[in-house]
Amino acid sequence: MAAFAEQIPVRRYTLTMPPNPRALPSVDAVLRALGTDGTPHALAANAARTVLAEARSGIRDGGTAPTHDDIVARVRSLLTQHLIPSLRPVINAGGVILQTNLGRAPLSERAIAAMDAIARGYSNLEYDIEAGTRGSRHDHVRELIHRVTGAEDGIIVNNNAAALSMALQVFARGSEVIISRGQAVEIGGGFRIPDVLRQSGATLVEVGTTNRTYAHDYDAAWTENTAAILRVHTSNFRVVGFTTEPTLNELATVAHHRSGLLLDDLGSGCLVDTTTYGIPHEPTIQESLAAGADLALFSGDKLLGGPQCGIIIGRAELVTRLRTHPLARSLRVDKLTIAAFIATLMSYAEGRERDEIPVWRMASIPLSTVRRRALRWVRAAGPAARLRESVTMIGGGSLPGEGVPTWCAAVRPPGGADHYALALRTVQPHIITRISDGEVLLDPRTVDPRDDRIIAERLDALRTNNKTAEGV
Ligand SMILES: *Cc1c(COP(=O)(O)O)cnc(C)c1O
Repeated sequence: MAAFAEQIPVRRYTLTMPPNPRALPSVDAVLRALGTDGTPHALAANAARTVLAEARSGIRDGGTAPTHDDIVARVRSLLTQHLIPSLRPVINAGGVILQTNLGRAPLSERAIAAMDAIARGYSNLEYDIEAGTRGSRHDHVRELIHRVTGAEDGIIVNNNAAALSMALQVFARGSEVIISRGQAVEIGGGFRIPDVLRQSGATLVEVGTTNRTYAHDYDAAWTENTAAILRVHTSNFRVVGFTTEPTLNELATVAHHRSGLLLDDLGSGCLVDTTTYGIPHEPTIQESLAAGADLALFSGDKLLGGPQCGIIIGRAELVTRLRTHPLARSLRVDKLTIAAFIATLMSYAEGRERDEIPVWRMASIPLSTVRRRALRWVRAAGPAARLRESVTMIGGGSLPGEGVPTWCAAVRPPGGADHYALALRTVQPHIITRISDGEVLLDPRTVDPRDDRIIAERLDALRTNNKTAEGV
């Protein structure tokens, strides 16, 4: 009986599983078939277990069992995949300068060098070198923020969403905050201003209508329980036509007359006059302060062109309250962000942003240069391609529908635009494009010129493949 029991296979199938004539190999058998190629045993065994579990569940769902060779090949490919990080660089030929899905602003060489220097070793992050005692990480940015923006003081936190919820929690928890109905919007990615207000413990008081709100609407809504007016720069869409919003100046007058605060969520946080780039005027940080905002909030990785962070600037006593609040610890940024932020602001301080910060460099490439670069790709892509005039979008929730004129290589592939875009996208280095009217568009403005050659080679290879496929 005991001898018989030993002959019973130890594999236990669930009863719902259909009988399967071809048994799956054991983990050991798979490992033997893989051979020893230097992959640590534990990694290989894990991959084998994963693949075998997938195969088992496939069989349970009525599929056929994979062959042993299939299984070994699948384990090999899984091990290769595990060697490539999931987060990878891509080439953005899609023509949106600030694309949130693609990581927003590329950093300047100066910011990258600063991060590199700080990452490699120790730093005086929270150390006062003169005194030889503990310092504060916040001190590294205060003076520079003052110099570049003119604000009395400033603090940086994880991102602008964090900045907004921090400002509301510190200054409006348990109180009312008045906001124009036209500004109680979703900023993107499900980030809704009314939800942020509620989460911060503030009570939202909406005034006006979607298209028209007046300063007296705010004043009429003010109660003894009101703490602030929140202005949100609704930069990702535009209500056109019969619209009125009070100026920031008027809002400041209402808030200050009532001894309350004016908080200005600028979103993009622009430091320069965008009209010098041929782009319509985007409200600047300096204008917000000049108009009387007590605190202005903005992102570090939108038009500022720096690392992901949120910046809160304004009156010194308010910023001090933020800095000493427990949330400052939860929302604090790391040393690499501080290093990149300082380097980015220094480009502005020296008036070098047009040359050094990729966002502004891209926006200011002359049209003739863009056309010449696009032409190279047109030639590489062959007869299915042409030059096409287009617009590079600024993106990042700034300047809705606005952009910079550009030239694209436009390909109308015989096999269809989707298929062609997929081929460019899925091979490393991944090339992201956009499709418009059945054409795949590649915009040189958002591409680092050092990547131009790679794109030309890939377009050329796709053309050659097509020819071969069609037997031309
Ligand atoms: C983008 C944006 C935010 C969110 O900023 P993050 O840095 O992405 O957190 C908040 N408010 C406005 C108006 C924005 O445009």
